[in-house]
Amino acid sequence: MRLVKLDLDHAPYDILIARDLLTQVQHILPLLPQKRVAIVTNETVAPLYLPQLQVALEANGVQVQAIVLPDGEKYKTWETLNLIFDGLLGARAERKTTLIALGGGVIGDMTGFAAAVYQRGVPFIQIPTTLLAQVDSSVGGKTAINHPLGKNMIGSFYQPKLVLADLSTLDTLPPREFSAGLAEIIKYGLIDDLAFFEWLEANIDVLMARDTDALAHAVEHSCQNKARIVAADEKEHGQRALLNLGHTFGHAIEAGLGYGAWLHGEAVAAGMVLAALASKELGQISATDLERITALIAKAGLPTVSPALGAERYLDLMAQDKKVDAGKIKFILMRRLGESYIGELTVPVIQAALTAGCA
Ligand code: NAD
Ligand code: MG
Repeated sequence: MRLVKLDLDHAPYDILIARDLLTQVQHILPLLPQKRVAIVTNETVAPLYLPQLQVALEANGVQVQAIVLPDGEKYKTWETLNLIFDGLLGARAERKTTLIALGGGVIGDMTGFAAAVYQRGVPFIQIPTTLLAQVDSSVGGKTAINHPLGKNMIGSFYQPKLVLADLSTLDTLPPREFSAGLAEIIKYGLIDDLAFFEWLEANIDVLMARDTDALAHAVEHSCQNKARIVAADEKEHGQRALLNLGHTFGHAIEAGLGYGAWLHGEAVAAGMVLAALASKELGQISATDLERITALIAKAGLPTVSPALGAERYLDLMAQDKKVDAGKIKFILMRRLGESYIGELTVPVIQAALTAGCA
């Protein structure tokens, strides 16, 4: 088993990574202030993984309530959040009842937000079951729901007590979802870890074959990198924004095509290529670096060419992004391969990157 510690002064916690963690409830039991939990999951994940977890907890005398939500980003809403509260209040869940999120990032974000506000805050454990959730959304304490006027606009920072990344759950993950997780993994290499980027180049084929050791290394390393960045800047006053590499372009792609057409990870992948093209335009990375980035992303089963929405539309969509600071669009750019920074781009550079990077 691999262990990554998130060293937050006020609330440090462990991220455990291994196969078959779901039934190893000895990691959960000592953290429960009361032998009572509510597992929040969805209709896809429940039949696959809820019974094992529930049986293992009940065998240890834990009272378990399951709250099964509809599946999909479109349900990451106030209405669905309220279904969690209906379930908790209906069963008279208490302030010491622990909420367990069992699912991908949608379930993790919603359950975390519910835990942050139910009775002004109850304990919360993450059991992420997608690759993206294991390397990204379950780590760092951002929780949210969507609003019709913006994604993740209603939420809070609320840290879990524990993250259990059970690699066996990835066996059932559809290939597109698996690749979407790889996009965020590649991102960690590009942010500040050339050695990890090179490890990924050497191991992308075994990773795509979902080899356990390779996956364990990739998840552990990604969590370490994210944990380091989050611990230094929990509430995103500065360097945490590096985690948005590829995301400003990516969000424009997602919004421009209509949410759901491309997966978030797919849009981030193409967005990282655009960020690389802009960085090359600025003379900061070479044509060879750009090729290496594009080749790795392609081998991960991800798009490298962005949709031709037109530069005007991209600029419009990016200006609406929430990471806009006093009218200027912030971009995460590459100073060199494996080293990114928070910068700004002029319109001609953005246009040049889009010309080179769109279909
Ligand atoms: P998701 O939660 O929608 O899961 C993707 C699909 O896979 C769903 O249909 C889900 O039911 C299914 N699934 C989950 N586990 C499975 C398994 N083991 N086997 C088979 N199918 C499985 O999507 P996601 O990519 O995990 O998460 C995306 C969400 O995460 C977005 O809402 C995004 O805003 C959020 N997010 C949050 C953070 C954060 O820091 N909090 C970071 C990144 C993303
Ligand atoms: Mg992301």
